Amino acid sequence: MKMYDVTGEIFEGMAVYKDKPEKQPKLNQLTNGYVTETRLEMDVHTGTHIDAPLHMTVGGETFESISLDKLVGQCKVLDLTASENGISKADLEGFEIEKEDFVLFKTKNSFDDHFNFDFIYLAEDGANYLAELGIRGVGTDALGIERSQEGHPTHKTLFAHDIIIIEGLRLKEVEQGEYFMVAAPLKLAGTDASPARVMLFEGLNF
Ligand SMILES: [Zn+2]
Repeated sequence: MKMYDVTGEIFEGMAVYKDKPEKQPKLNQLTNGYVTETRLEMDVHTGTHIDAPLHMTVGGETFESISLDKLVGQCKVLDLTASENGISKADLEGFEIEKEDFVLFKTKNSFDDHFNFDFIYLAEDGANYLAELGIRGVGTDALGIERSQEGHPTHKTLFAHDIIIIEGLRLKEVEQGEYFMVAAPLKLAGTDASPARVMLFEGLNF
């Protein structure tokens, strides 16, 4: 069995959405000479994280509505490294995606260590296609599942169909194929997202 940690590292100076300085985490390390304690201040959308409907929907459900059952189980990594710009229905039709699948997109984003303003994203018609198929969740290696789409139709379509969104995965080392995924977010209540540790296991089937 082989394990891949597909989580981004959290540190001051890491890649953050649109390079906004206010999105940088702050690690304030205090010591009295022998006891050290760090206070961490960060956006819940920092690094590898899972979005909740509240993020894009006024009055939407908060993070505790996302059941851990849906975050642990089989997933499919799709090699979309040839995709440029938005991932469309046409890009996805060539893969065997079935109802209840959790799909992870490996794109060129996994090879960027800095924020790329032209990151690969899931286009509206790609999101509609996944919603029609009835997938369980989708993960992307960008810090956002969509970009430059007015009204955020990709987020809204996915949330409307109870499809979980994981953002900020690091899939450079992972080949296309099936894995057992453990996506373990913090047990936050009332928030619109949570950072998560995400691991993929090869050769593990339940
Ligand atoms: Zn997010």
